[in-house]
Amino acid sequence: MKSVRDIPVEGKRVFVRVDYNLPMDENLNITDDNRIRATIGLIDYLQAHKAKIILASHMGRPDGVRDKKLSLLPAAQCLAKILDRPVLFADDCIGDKVEQQIAGLGAGQILMLENLRFHKEEKKNDAVFAKKLADLCDVYINEAFAVSHRNQASVTGIPKFVSQAGAGFLLEKEVQAYYDSVEHPQKPLVAVIGGAKVSSKLAALENMLNFVDHLIIGGAMANTFLKAQGIDTKGSMIETDLLETAVAIIEKAKQKGIELLLPVDLVVADRFDKEANTKTVLADEIPDNWMALDIGPKTATRYAQAIQDAGTIVWNGPMGVFEMEKFAAGTQTVANAIAGSKAFSIVGGGDTGLAAKQCGVADRISYISTGGGAFLHMLEGKKLPGVVALE
Ligand code: AMP
Repeated sequence: MKSVRDIPVEGKRVFVRVDYNLPMDENLNITDDNRIRATIGLIDYLQAHKAKIILASHMGRPDGVRDKKLSLLPAAQCLAKILDRPVLFADDCIGDKVEQQIAGLGAGQILMLENLRFHKEEKKNDAVFAKKLADLCDVYINEAFAVSHRNQASVTGIPKFVSQAGAGFLLEKEVQAYYDSVEHPQKPLVAVIGGAKVSSKLAALENMLNFVDHLIIGGAMANTFLKAQGIDTKGSMIETDLLETAVAIIEKAKQKGIELLLPVDLVVADRFDKEANTKTVLADEIPDNWMALDIGPKTATRYAQAIQDAGTIVWNGPMGVFEMEKFAAGTQTVANAIAGSKAFSIVGGGDTGLAAKQCGVADRISYISTGGGAFLHMLEGKKLPGVVALE
């Protein structure tokens, strides 16, 4: 994968695919500008090297229809504020007007294009659309790790039509962090996997059996494993069609000498509600109609012990419904243990990044990925199409 550092950019039109799909409140105020901040290093570099910078991103799911609420104008304004430099805005991402705006760009100037997904061709990876985007530039840089698992025009389409394509600093950093933690880990490697569904992480779980030393399972995902072992999980969330798969994973872990840890106690509730009645019970003592919404304290302590001796920790998925205070303790204990360990720790984006933040440990995690889906894609042992497109 070529790096932006290896490509001459002075005076060149450089198209940078960023991920400015930012969370906003109902008044279109950006509530978290981390994704913009993560790209500032590259933008500074391109400005210092006198490139003409074209930024492109998607926002939400407009499905090919213009939607004012999903405009990238607030993102462009937010970027201008952070940089304290002007950022021009184009109200489309292709067309004559955009071409004119780009032709007028001076060295170091920035033009942010409107939402790529206002054209349905973006998600369809339409070659004609990709070619139109490619024609806007001399150099293509992918700085959008979080969408690099997608085969979309601005991710895998454009590189086919440009003579120079490479990775931005963030993409490089993401791939390197994964390489350091998963492909060349300090042993033992402990994976902490939780969240809502086994199905969404099944391929990752199966692949991880090829390299982890300890596999810690929490969250609703643990319920399916408990049920597979004959425990009555009562009203807890489970995936019945994956019971056999869970048994196979437990068996495979045993054969490979991987320690697979499951909850021994649980925090259960009489309903899925932040005001629900709760108690802590042994894993096989869930009352009728109650549901498991967090791992219990004995389990959390056991998990923390296993984490303590790790050389590398990969964490994806909370241990319980951490968004509700009554079910956040398990995730908090595990998060503290990860942050307190000497291990290199990497956290898969999305909800887990949020959980790390909420638990107040984000600054003590070695690396928090900016992309949940892309991170999982790599954990599944697959190459990212966006990275392959740059090779
Ligand atoms: P994921 O995106 O798969 O990592 O899932 C994250 C979601 O899993 C969070 O919103 C949690 O509230 C939810 N979750 C974790 N544990 C449980 C549980 N025991 N029952 C229901 N939902 C859970």
